[in-house]
Amino acid sequence: MSKPPVVLFSAAEQEGHAGEEEFLEAQPFDLLAVPVIGPLLRWRHSRTLLQIPLFVLSMVMILEGLLGPTLSPKNLATVLTWVHFRGVLVLAILCAGNLFCFSCPFMLARNFMRKWIHPRFTWPRRLRNKWLSIALFVGVLFGYELFGLWASPWLTAWVILGYFAAILIVDGLFKHGAFCKYVCPIGQFNFIASTASPLEVAVRDQEVCDSCQTRDCIRGRREPASPLVVLQRGCELALFQPAKVGNMDCTFCLDCVHACPHDNVGILSRLPAGELMSDPLRSGIGRFSRRNDIAALALVFCFGALMNAFGMVSPVYTAESWLERTLHFHSRAGALGILFTAVILVEPAILLGAAAWITRAWAGVKSGWLAIAVRYAYALSPLGFGMWLAHYGFHFFTGLYTIVPVTQNAFAELGWPILGDPRWTLVGLPKTVVEPIEFGFLLLGLAGSLLVAWGLAQDDAEQHPLRAFAPWGVLCVILFVCCVWLMTQPMDMRATMLAG
Ligand code: SF4
Ligand code: SF4
Repeated sequence: MSKPPVVLFSAAEQEGHAGEEEFLEAQPFDLLAVPVIGPLLRWRHSRTLLQIPLFVLSMVMILEGLLGPTLSPKNLATVLTWVHFRGVLVLAILCAGNLFCFSCPFMLARNFMRKWIHPRFTWPRRLRNKWLSIALFVGVLFGYELFGLWASPWLTAWVILGYFAAILIVDGLFKHGAFCKYVCPIGQFNFIASTASPLEVAVRDQEVCDSCQTRDCIRGRREPASPLVVLQRGCELALFQPAKVGNMDCTFCLDCVHACPHDNVGILSRLPAGELMSDPLRSGIGRFSRRNDIAALALVFCFGALMNAFGMVSPVYTAESWLERTLHFHSRAGALGILFTAVILVEPAILLGAAAWITRAWAGVKSGWLAIAVRYAYALSPLGFGMWLAHYGFHFFTGLYTIVPVTQNAFAELGWPILGDPRWTLVGLPKTVVEPIEFGFLLLGLAGSLLVAWGLAQDDAEQHPLRAFAPWGVLCVILFVCCVWLMTQPMDMRATMLAG
């Protein structure tokens, strides 16, 4: 007996996608259909092909971090991690999608381990949310400031080693993609940032899925004679392609592409951040409006961007010393803890609470203030992404060429100076070139946030969309001004030879 067709979206949900569909009325661009790139990506080992060099690089960084120069601007571990890797990551998300998760070297080690170790447990139901990974995300931001990770090759090497250990332990014990979905802070950063990406792994033709009998994209492709033998695994992140919406939780692993027997999954173009304007039922996620944890992730992503940049400008040192003197702290941790609590917890609670209250009172939106705050929290993520782009882009572009002397030095220290003497004068692009790029990123983020807030307001308050939008528009502009102020402050040139 054939299975009933999969119901993808209700009429109301389809309506929610109308704006997006209009934008892409023409056939969307499909990266997998591009000559050379498409066949290369569809090749079963394409992911491994990118993971291997990154894995080798990780090993080199660990060795260099533990045994190489102790001065961070001369060490590959610190320069690559804190100058180049972060910049490439956000630029790749802006231009394409979640390419770091696609080429994740930690997953290579984990997949290798799983050839022999088969996990027995399922991830605990109570932890099937983002709260643990949000705590880890904040912990990473806090630890970065407190321990000055950018200045310590040794600690940076241990962070990378710790990451390998964590994924091997979690995914050695728990089935499917537990680490990526519920634990990995880098993954959560990539998931929320890639809601603003122009590409998405999605089905090419919904009708093909409607009549699909096997659903291999989620179940995995199996040996016809013995169904227990999996030839190609399906989505480990529990995203069922025909009901998948957007990039949240998608690692771009392309397992669904390889598993689909109808070649019905592509990497398609879409309206960046469009997925934040509607609230359909998302496979593996549910509705954004009911996911307080993902809304909190969006807020930590946005306000964490401000805190991360604030940690690098001189006013933070004044604020820290004042707190230390006033409250008699004997270590930096107390003052830093207060600043983090103020920026990542108290500030968003006050600002979003006030904006939600105004929306409710002025635009007549019926939902409670918490529900309104959760719904509009997603509108802040494009601006947060703009800030991460501006900040990481600043380090990346101003330290672009530092990779050359650091690599020359690494070879020289091995007693093999084939690349010549290190040219320490090579640094990066001048600030006059980088600054307009930074402000371009911030403006892009502001535009994205305003558009998402406007889209949500139109849905929520048909009579008074402007009234529903106004408090969120003002909030976005306030945060944008804070971002601009931060980016115009003199910044530490961390992990480069100009570091103060
Ligand atoms: S993506 Fe492929 S395997 Fe999944 S439901 Fe559609 S046709 Fe079937
Ligand atoms: S298998 Fe899942 S995580 Fe991987 S690309 Fe497909 S939808 Fe994304």
